[in-house]
Amino acid sequence: MKTKFTLTTLSTLLSLATAGFAASSGPVFYGDAPDEHHPWAVHDGNRPQPKIVTPGTFSSAEQPGKPPSDAIILFDGTDLSKWETDKGAPAPWIVSNGYMQVAPGKGAIRTKEKFGDCQLHIEWAAPAKVEGSSQGRGNSGMFLMNMLEIQILDSYNNLTYADGHAGAYYGINPPMANAVRPPGEWQMYDIVFRRPIYKDGKVVDPGYVTVLVNGVLVQDHTMLEGGGTHMARTKPGPFPAKGPLSLQDHGNPMRFRNIWYRELPLRASEGGTDGWLSTEATMAKRAEIAASIRQDAAKLANPDKPLPEMLRLMESLPYEKDDAALQKVEQMAGQYVENLKKLPADKLAAKKDEAKNVAAAFKYLVRFNALPATFAPKTALDQVIKDQGWDKKK
Ligand code: MG
Repeated sequence: MKTKFTLTTLSTLLSLATAGFAASSGPVFYGDAPDEHHPWAVHDGNRPQPKIVTPGTFSSAEQPGKPPSDAIILFDGTDLSKWETDKGAPAPWIVSNGYMQVAPGKGAIRTKEKFGDCQLHIEWAAPAKVEGSSQGRGNSGMFLMNMLEIQILDSYNNLTYADGHAGAYYGINPPMANAVRPPGEWQMYDIVFRRPIYKDGKVVDPGYVTVLVNGVLVQDHTMLEGGGTHMARTKPGPFPAKGPLSLQDHGNPMRFRNIWYRELPLRASEGGTDGWLSTEATMAKRAEIAASIRQDAAKLANPDKPLPEMLRLMESLPYEKDDAALQKVEQMAGQYVENLKKLPADKLAAKKDEAKNVAAAFKYLVRFNALPATFAPKTALDQVIKDQGWDKKK
């Protein structure tokens, strides 16, 4: 991070001036301005802060970790109240000693809750006593949105087809590594899932899945190609908006614990405002930010101390060209320079830093076409600075 002295000073001036209103979290008139794909400037102090999440703890062989504070818990080891059969009946699996176990032959279970994009955590263990081989050994699976299977399999010293191993996007993409622990030990999956987005029958985002097995990356933003299934090739296509998470009964007494997910924010392609936005979405967001800053500026109105309002209003200009705001800035800025010029020498000298910072703000706004290059108050203020010799380095 590089901070110029003058801009830091201006930021301090502003944060003092705006105390009690929207606090700026960074220097203003600083980084590259909003453009047609980014509604915020670089290092934009008006950009919302990330939400606070208290992290959880990692799991160990002995005990499951603690989920992060915003996780939605699907199974905490105590009961199956959040689960049901695929017919909506109570989940018939066994709960014991902090885990749930497949009741072979009783069928898959799914969450009552439906959800889409997520960060998902799940832990599982295959029976310690090895029985069967290949796909017949320690097989289950998790169906994200009840659509695609991320394979759960006792892959430890177990030869099977590559796209059927633990961590496979079943039938479509093998895991990049076989990172499972021996049977009987707890295994951890962490998944980032983005569903496909279609608009008017055309793909906007094919959707992706990322999987870590015991902390080892095995699916790296793998593009979705439909559900993936046994023997048949599936094709990309739209998913429903939401779906349940389903766990497979493949006839083996597999165990599960510590299942939770976190909702993910919308992607830019579906109305989110972070990332590379369409020009239309960017301009709409910029107008919204500008309106909010103009409202904020109005709250700062004070005939005895007009500078904070003027600076805040100036701050709105790079987001949206607004004639009324521009005219008001021009009028206030003209008055500001006129008042400066009327000051006696000692009082003017005390305004040196402030005036130079206002001039730097004008320069920034001209550089990003938020003010015309011929902006009269800028020319006049630059002249004052020159006349006073404030432009010279000591
Ligand atoms: Mg399976």
